Amino acid sequence: MKIDFHVHTNHSFDSTIAPADLAKKAKSLGIIPSITDHYSMGAIPEMEKSKIDFIPGEELRVSTPTGKADLIGLFMNEEIPKDIDFYEALDLLKSQGAITYAPHAFDSLRSGLNDEELLKELQVIEVFNSHCFSRFDTQAEEFAKREGKLMAAGSDAHFLFEFGTTYVELELDELEPKKLLKALKTGKITGKRSPRIRRFVHRAASSLLKPFI
Ligand SMILES: [Zn+2]
Repeated sequence: MKIDFHVHTNHSFDSTIAPADLAKKAKSLGIIPSITDHYSMGAIPEMEKSKIDFIPGEELRVSTPTGKADLIGLFMNEEIPKDIDFYEALDLLKSQGAITYAPHAFDSLRSGLNDEELLKELQVIEVFNSHCFSRFDTQAEEFAKREGKLMAAGSDAHFLFEFGTTYVELELDELEPKKLLKALKTGKITGKRSPRIRRFVHRAASSLLKPFI
């Protein structure tokens, strides 16, 4: 099974991907998307209609002692309020049986969590994100290996052409949280960077828009 763990749809303020188009592309590539929109699970009902396999999630923004940071929940059933405390978000994620996932850890340019004590609380560390400068991914990978954390990867697609450029290949017969965590121990990551200009435009647009969202 191949999974792209970090994918946005037009339910994010900064993405243009229609859920129905994503479903079509996912089917043709044979890659399962994790739907991780910013502060929204609005795409989930549309994805369900498409009848493809996917992981319902959300990219949350949480408050930490050093500022706001992004945090992903996988296998979620309910949205979590924006800007709540990191530990409060963790409790809410755990109570709905979600997997906790650190997107673009250490990426100070894109609200990545960089407090190691907080990162230690999470189950999965993203060690390849198509939008990151490689130094941040390297830092995340070194941390994950040192702490014995599970590692995963995602395209962080905001445009359809980006989806599926990065994915993890897993020995998995069913899309289920416990089995997924076990399979991640031997996951094989394929990663490709988004074009530099694309990353620049996204970073600039996000930093302009984010304070108002
Ligand atoms: Zn994202």
